[in-house]
Amino acid sequence: MKLESRVAIVTGGSSGIGRGISIELAREGARVVVCDLVERPKPGKYHDQDVTTPTVAALNEIGSEGLFVQADVSDETAVNRLVDQTLETFGGLDILVNNAGIFALGDSQTTPVETWDRIMGVNLRALFLTTRAAVPHLKASRAGRIINIASVHAFHGGGGPAYAPAKAGVVNLTRDTAVELASHGITANTICPGYIETPIQDYLTEDQVAEALEKTPLPRLGLPKDIGRACVFFASDDAEWITGTALPVDGGWLAPIW
Ligand code: NAD
Repeated sequence: MKLESRVAIVTGGSSGIGRGISIELAREGARVVVCDLVERPKPGKYHDQDVTTPTVAALNEIGSEGLFVQADVSDETAVNRLVDQTLETFGGLDILVNNAGIFALGDSQTTPVETWDRIMGVNLRALFLTTRAAVPHLKASRAGRIINIASVHAFHGGGGPAYAPAKAGVVNLTRDTAVELASHGITANTICPGYIETPIQDYLTEDQVAEALEKTPLPRLGLPKDIGRACVFFASDDAEWITGTALPVDGGWLAPIW
């Protein structure tokens, strides 16, 4: 097992990608603190329709320990409490996975300012808050790791006036974090998912889901565990000399010029 006795926080861990990340980290021996607004997994219109077991119960089923902490990652007080509860329960922190994210349809004319602020708050500002709270404890770890989940939308327009710039910001915030923390042996890397089968896709039409499959060179859409396995790699000793990178995990989505 690659992550025996390590402690991880996974934000947005109740559903979708965060759930997949939590399970893959746990399979490698990590104890996982699942942070989310709600404990119940969100059923999707196209994906995860039948997922009902809360993530911590799923971790227990595979013989791992977990803790659910209800917290809004854009709320500084809640984030500080999340880190405190992690320390109280498991005595340390080795891996921070910033996964929670939200999306809303809209362009520069139709996106309310409040929605723009909320998307930035959850998808970008929150990473500053969690990182700030976690760093003193990651410094005490033998293998401190920060793994941030952005998107292929970090590199192209078309994701909307808030989501795409927030994700681009995640890539560069991660680089800055990597530079700041390298001397402490802490790495910071970004994973940029392509289309992953989760409830966040509910806003799409069936035709758009089919189009996403057509645009993905490998012949299937992504699964939460695909992102989870990349997280295991970045969290493990195998990646101890890799920092500041942004890894697409996208079935080849970014490879062609469409
Ligand atoms: P999802 O909607 O299926 O799950 C997101 C989880 O985050 C939910 O459990 C939700 O309750 C939680 N969450 C939302 N706001 C929160 C907050 N303020 N505080 C704490 N938890 C919060 O989404 P997903 O597809 O699993 O997405 C996870 C991450 O991956 C997001 O950052 C998303 O932008 C990114 N991403 C997803 C895809 C994809 O195709 N699914 C592609 C690229 C990037």
